[in-house]
Amino acid sequence: GQGLPRPEQTRVMVVANQKGGVGKTTTTVNLAASLALHGARVLVIDLDPQGNASTALGVDHHAEVPSVYDVLVEAKPLAEVVQPVPDVEGLFCAPATIDLAGAEIELVSLVARESRLKRAIDSYEQPLDFIFIDCPPSLGLLTVNAMVAGNEVLIPIQCEYYALEGLGQLLHNVDLVRGHLNPRLHVSTILLTMYDGRTRLASQVADEVRGHFGAEVLRTSIPRSVRISEAPSYGQTVLTYDPGSSGSLSYLEAAREMALRGVRGPGEAQHEQHDG
Ligand code: ADP
Ligand code: MG
Repeated sequence: GQGLPRPEQTRVMVVANQKGGVGKTTTTVNLAASLALHGARVLVIDLDPQGNASTALGVDHHAEVPSVYDVLVEAKPLAEVVQPVPDVEGLFCAPATIDLAGAEIELVSLVARESRLKRAIDSYEQPLDFIFIDCPPSLGLLTVNAMVAGNEVLIPIQCEYYALEGLGQLLHNVDLVRGHLNPRLHVSTILLTMYDGRTRLASQVADEVRGHFGAEVLRTSIPRSVRISEAPSYGQTVLTYDPGSSGSLSYLEAAREMALRGVRGPGEAQHEQHDG
């Protein structure tokens, strides 16, 4: 490891944005791998039935594999589904299988339907510095479970047209969960993804996001990079697929920034969260 400060308590990061294709999964796996390479112990919880994070981490997630579905619906201990990620020391994954698609409905009739993931995480005894929860592109019960389990929301924003569309709804849901179910929850981190510095649009979107959120936006943005998009088909993160690439270096730097900022309390950035 390269000696980044360890958080005093596990930082549970909810990677959320109900828009698909904005870079949630890419950000989850690459930030998680970056922090592990920096020496942290990191768990990725794949909460998207598509299982893209499991695929990108090279973790087995065919239909019979014990998975997050069993944890949420059958109350199986998280430790029984967690797998080590090949080739990245300190990185682990709780995979998603396709049956997770049904969990959104099955959860409705279960007791403590919003807090089943939190309960599973609370009973997980392995020491961890970070947990990243990769959310599906919706604000349903799976995402609510993530928000109840987490302390921090990390929102990837794609530097494209309509980047801010739908964000108000996401922030409203964060407020609702904070008000009713999890007072610690707050938006701590915003990451600009697929940034193309050659276009005026990208820099306009970046300015708009920084103007709107300010302190939560990481200074590092993630460039659009073919290497980043190729890595998952090899079951790898860009950190092992092409360690020297600009995509890899940008995720390492974003991870460093995130770790150095540490955790900020919900009081400290509140005023900037409500006018979305
Ligand atoms: P989400 O999880 O929000 O749906 P993904 O992380 O799956 O989004 O990203 C959507 C698509 O964009 C994927 O094909 C991914 O490989 C690609 N992608 C994500 N980030 C980048 C990037 N920085 N450069 C190029 N392609 C990217
Ligand atoms: Mg995804």
